[in-house]
Amino acid sequence: MNLRILVTAGDGIGPEVTNEAVKVLQEVMALGGHTLTLDHKRIGGIAITTDGTPLPADTLAAALASDAVLLGAVGGNEFNALPPDKRPEAGLLAIRSALGGFANLRPAFAFKELAVNSPLRPEIIDGADILFVRELLGGLYFGQPRQWDKAKGEAWNTMRYTRDEVVRVARIAFQLAQKRRKKLCSVDKANVLEVSQLWRATVIEVAAEFPDVRLEHQYVDAMAMHLMNRPRDFDVVLTENLFGDILSDESGVITGSLGMLPSATIGGKVNLYEPIHGSAPDIAGKGLANPIGAILTGALILRHTAGLEAEAAAIETSVRKVLSQGFRTADLARGNTAGLAVLSTTEMGVKVRETVKTMVVSA
Ligand code: NAD
Repeated sequence: MNLRILVTAGDGIGPEVTNEAVKVLQEVMALGGHTLTLDHKRIGGIAITTDGTPLPADTLAAALASDAVLLGAVGGNEFNALPPDKRPEAGLLAIRSALGGFANLRPAFAFKELAVNSPLRPEIIDGADILFVRELLGGLYFGQPRQWDKAKGEAWNTMRYTRDEVVRVARIAFQLAQKRRKKLCSVDKANVLEVSQLWRATVIEVAAEFPDVRLEHQYVDAMAMHLMNRPRDFDVVLTENLFGDILSDESGVITGSLGMLPSATIGGKVNLYEPIHGSAPDIAGKGLANPIGAILTGALILRHTAGLEAEAAAIETSVRKVLSQGFRTADLARGNTAGLAVLSTTEMGVKVRETVKTMVVSA
């Protein structure tokens, strides 16, 4: 197959980690006999400095002409004084909304080797493997009316969903559950909120199309607790925008490091893939960034855009193997280096590439 990826590496550690992700993708695609076409464009702070805008028109045009966009991270302290619509993050929000993805996929999984990095006990997280499907374009973050009336000392936002918005994201979640352990937990607050009652009724309707998937419902407050007490019980977790924002961050503690987690936003014109971490200006340019979140983001491109499941799984298995051999970046070693080899960003990328070569059968 021929896969066209636009790389928008962005700021801070974005270019460092994206570089490693791209090299792993090149390796895997070549081994599988596929063609990878890469284009590189600016976004965020680097685009403000060079082009005067956080999302230049040619970046957006290239994004819309690609099969997938791989984004590093945006942001930097030097831009903090700019008004919100001129900051690097405005470029990120603009590209997300232009690409139109409404289903944000955020895996949260445990690595046995990193159990020590999680504040949760190893026997709680061992084997945990959750996929959050968060609705990204509706709910409280976009609902109208919204306002802060400073004169009155009053502010309001609106949590609003249409049935169609729930149907489309629920279908994606059920389809993903069919490819996993066939369990779906829908999160709402239907005991209090009408919008959640619509959400629950619609998810139940959609469930009829997927009789092989076991559906359960949880209230968001109870779910916050269940995720920490018994994360292994959950497979796909479907949420509206705000609830998913909070619960997926909470579940990041299962993995134990921000630098490990990938994400994908699908369902729009072009899928957008990004590690969940930011530009980490405190460690940028020092070779300290953990590239694994970006590398695993590359695996999500292969799974969700290219349909190359075996190659995606090969990358994920390679990461596990490298960790099981005692290789760590500094954030994972946390000063406790006994029996571990602490690698730089590029050295970790090389290890994953060397390992993936032994996993993908050459075409
Ligand atoms: P951050 O994710 O950049 O960093 C938080 C902490 O985690 C820092 O100590 C950082 O060193 C560490 N960290 C993050 N990624 C790491 C990695 N791959 N390897 C090792 N350590 C890592 O969040 P922040 O400090 O709140 O934000 C910094 C900048 O990034 C801000 O400008 C913010 O707006 C922006 N940001 C961008 C995105 C994005 O582009 N998607 C997301 C979050 C924050």
